Amino acid sequence: MADDSSQLTPPRGRPAVLFPLFAGVETLPGIGPRAAEGLAGLGVTRPRDLILTLPQNGISRRAIDRLSEARPPEVISITLTISRHLPPSGRGRPWRVVTSDGTQDLTLVFFHAKEAWVTAQMPVGGQRIVSGKIELFDGLAQMVHPDHILAVGAQPLAAFEPIYPLSGALTQRVVANAAEAALGRVPPLAEWIDAALLAREGWPAFDAALAAAHAPGSRAALAPTDPARARLAYDELFAHQLTLALLRRERRRAPGRASPGDGRLRAKALSALPWGLTAAQERAVAEIAGDMAAPMRMNRLLQGDVGSGKTLVAWLALLIAVEAGGQGVLMAPTEILARQHAAGLAPWAEAAGVRVATLTGRDRPDARAQILADLAAGLIDVLVGTHAVFQEAVQFADLRLAVIDEQHRFGVAQRMALGAKGGVPPDVLVMTATPIPRSLALTQFGDMELSVLDEKPPGRQPITTTIVPDSRREDIIARLGKALSEGARAYWVCPLVEESEVSDLTAAEERFRNLRAIFGDSVRLVHGQMPAEARDAAMADFASGRANLLVATTVIEVGVDVPAATIMVIERAESFGLAQLHQLRGRVGRGTGASFCILLYQPPLGETATRRLGILRETEDGFRIAEEDMAIRGAGDAIGTAQSGLPRFRIADLERQSNLMALARSDARALLEGDPQLASSRGQAARHLLWLMEQDKAIRLIAAG
Ligand code: ADP
Ligand code: MG
Repeated sequence: MADDSSQLTPPRGRPAVLFPLFAGVETLPGIGPRAAEGLAGLGVTRPRDLILTLPQNGISRRAIDRLSEARPPEVISITLTISRHLPPSGRGRPWRVVTSDGTQDLTLVFFHAKEAWVTAQMPVGGQRIVSGKIELFDGLAQMVHPDHILAVGAQPLAAFEPIYPLSGALTQRVVANAAEAALGRVPPLAEWIDAALLAREGWPAFDAALAAAHAPGSRAALAPTDPARARLAYDELFAHQLTLALLRRERRRAPGRASPGDGRLRAKALSALPWGLTAAQERAVAEIAGDMAAPMRMNRLLQGDVGSGKTLVAWLALLIAVEAGGQGVLMAPTEILARQHAAGLAPWAEAAGVRVATLTGRDRPDARAQILADLAAGLIDVLVGTHAVFQEAVQFADLRLAVIDEQHRFGVAQRMALGAKGGVPPDVLVMTATPIPRSLALTQFGDMELSVLDEKPPGRQPITTTIVPDSRREDIIARLGKALSEGARAYWVCPLVEESEVSDLTAAEERFRNLRAIFGDSVRLVHGQMPAEARDAAMADFASGRANLLVATTVIEVGVDVPAATIMVIERAESFGLAQLHQLRGRVGRGTGASFCILLYQPPLGETATRRLGILRETEDGFRIAEEDMAIRGAGDAIGTAQSGLPRFRIADLERQSNLMALARSDARALLEGDPQLASSRGQAARHLLWLMEQDKAIRLIAAG
């Protein structure tokens, strides 16, 4: 798995029985420097890597007795008699060998063949088993470079031949032979999978599963659902989840604070709200309160679709920290969001009698100094800000809870920096705006506890989504004008022309000038490059209704909350990712008015783009959209490969085996609960698995006790 610990020396103590699997690949038969280079191209540097590199494909090799049974083009095996050799008729022409099955001829064709080799391989009058693809060329049967030429009586060819991935100078035969030898080095290992699970799934033992997966008997055996492959996938996932479970236990052992709130501030806050909590919010708050009251450090992920009301949950959690006599901090990924949170929390804070301050990195020096002093003195209860709150100078009197909003924009490193802020690390609540498919959530955040807001506040109306070609833009603008004149508020999101902010900007500025010329000075522009004051002013105008059309780049993607806005136009929608479109659309449909989302596209739409936009029209369910997004883009991309930090599995397929991931997680936690030292025979076996799967972090944690 991709893991920073691969940079470090591996921990000591690898079991001796595994040594042969961790030797260099050159110790395998047939692997010299060139083949080793090819294998390295596949990420294979040790026999251990090779046993986990399974054939991706296979060809059936039908054995036939007569050439007349062949259905060219088809891969066949047949016994033939060599009739004669036809040397090349000129430079660059092939060497040809005419063979016969007794009634019909087949010409074997060899380019760049050495005479000595062909004549030795196929002596005239001799018989050979020949296998390869038979084709018709000018009506005559021929076979170019047979895959196999064997003496009669040799070991029969498999009817289904595995195809390995190749790279560099590798050939199928070299990889297959090396893999076979590598499999021979797998020692007998005790079973680490729970016996009942193994029986229920009908999985083979580890060594049998490897053998079967490397020798598929048919196309069906290549499917991830094949018992051998499923078991090996499970082994990878189980090892990963065992690591996460160990990390989780480690954290839970580390000192934390018990922050039992008395409910006093929460009661005040709730009584000032015009509505009650949704059942999902209620549940999430109870889970958080339970964690915070316990003397362990909380590490919880709050997942909720756009508009599900995460902010209120965060606020109630912050109030618990204050009720317990401490402080809380809420971090947003952008300045706009930090300001919005601060503004949104202000009335709630007043209702609860809680002191909130904002820190964003562009505060006036004297104001900043005052805030820092008040924080350190405990005069501020809740700090809201951007990553500026991570800075060295920011010291709290008694920080008990850190809430990180929209986690995707924050690196894991920042999450860690917070934990390291002197004294007992605070409880951590991470909120994600983008619903993450369950399997990914378990993979990436498997060491965290999970709360899900799977319900939206009542009274929301569905958003009507339409997909419109750009040629009808004038038409859309005219209808927009009508809606605006009737009091509507709308966003107009500009295309992501290229990766760079600069080109986004040109497009946004141009659209802004264009729309302003039509609608006058109630149009505003926001983008990431403009001075913060101007941006705040534009946002404030739009929020208050002084402006009714906001032209924007994707800076408004995350979290912006103006419930009165009901129209979202997205230009060149096909250039955005699905999750991003869902986030953008989530800026409307937040109040009680009926909302509309217009996805403008530039024809022609490709197949994938059509499918993506179609999903948006069909559903508003962020979890479904996330699953579809993952199916279309692949697991790594669905949450942005660069930041994802997702482990790379050799066999397991996160998209198709999410159920296995969930199983592995509960199994791993159960194993550790029943056998904290991994001392039982199953625990010992699991240690071998961790070594095999190179879960170095886990191994260090076990070693540490
Ligand atoms: P998100 O989960 O996208 O961050 P927000 O926290 O911004 O969602 O909430 C979306 C909107 O719903 C806000 O205007 C918020 O005030 C409102 N809201 C939150 N909880 C409730 C509730 N229980 N009932 C009604 N409205 C709510
Ligand atoms: Mg939010």
